[in-house]
Amino acid sequence: MHKDFIIIAGPCSVENEEQVLKTASALKKSIKIDFFRAGIWKPRTHPCEFEGIGHKGLEWLKNVQIDFNIPVITEAGSSFHVEKILLYDIKAVWIGARTVANPFSVQEIVDSIKGNNISVFVKNPIYPDIELWSGAIERFLNAGIKNIYAIHRGFYPFQKINMRNVPRWEIPIELARRFPDIKIICDPSHISGKKEYIKEISQKAIDLNMSGLMIEAHYNPELALSDKEQQLTPDELKQLIQDLNFRKTGKENPDFLVSLENLREKIDVLDFQMIDMMEHRFKLVDEIGKLKKENNVIILQLERWKKIIESRLKYANQDHISKEFLLKILQMIHKESIQRQNNIMNNTD
Ligand code: PEP
Ligand code: MN
Repeated sequence: MHKDFIIIAGPCSVENEEQVLKTASALKKSIKIDFFRAGIWKPRTHPCEFEGIGHKGLEWLKNVQIDFNIPVITEAGSSFHVEKILLYDIKAVWIGARTVANPFSVQEIVDSIKGNNISVFVKNPIYPDIELWSGAIERFLNAGIKNIYAIHRGFYPFQKINMRNVPRWEIPIELARRFPDIKIICDPSHISGKKEYIKEISQKAIDLNMSGLMIEAHYNPELALSDKEQQLTPDELKQLIQDLNFRKTGKENPDFLVSLENLREKIDVLDFQMIDMMEHRFKLVDEIGKLKKENNVIILQLERWKKIIESRLKYANQDHISKEFLLKILQMIHKESIQRQNNIMNNTD
């Protein structure tokens, strides 16, 4: 594992003093962790569910920091939470997925954190909306808050899938592009909802160059009052970390870098050719648009569209390009073409 790789582990929620101490001490014995996580106030969908122990649990978390010398991270959802967290000198907070979806709450938290030296981890919002995630990070940055991280915990799936949330990896990748200096930590526990998928998601996060993992662990998950199905024992967590393949950046291997550069140069040429060809194609689409306008002919010609799909899918070698992918590209091109012809048709000047 790279020395800067961040591991955050601990139970979903603080339940009682014994649970906190047993979990922290078992984790301390099994692996090196950078933060001990545990929620004090839990955002639950129904009020009858376990909503966290409340601020009395902060005393136990403070003891973890002192007795085990591990910084603690807990969730803050309001300025009241922040006030209590700061009072107990907790080193880090995460802003939960439901809170990030509400800019009023985020701003309230930013204002109460401002000027304090506490690390802030911003989870993605439950909805797959990168703007809400970016916006929350911008609020912290604008307030001059220093140690800001992002946590990718997956998105509401909208349809039934095998996991609790859908990763939508392209969203954290875009976030990394927008904020190259902000480290992204993956939370495979809340993405998967079940312990059997945690390894596969963690490996993917490593392969996508994420900077760390936040994994729920409980000394006895059977007893957990929240997220029982997804919590690992400290031993299981140790095994998982051992099984993961922490790949290299490649920077230390000159032969690899030369071969990579050669292949990338070829890809660059093809990308520019692709752009030229698309521009050319759209010029033709526009000409057809004008022709249709002059002759007052409808834009969508279903027969032609069917033929395009059939012939292109038949032409493509499926060993090299999948049908699903090609279909998606054709659909995008067709949508753009219709849009352009629509503009031409309805342009009155
Ligand atoms: C948590 O980390 O325990 C939690 C409540 O996460 P999220 O906000 O991602 O659902
Ligand atoms: Mn949880």
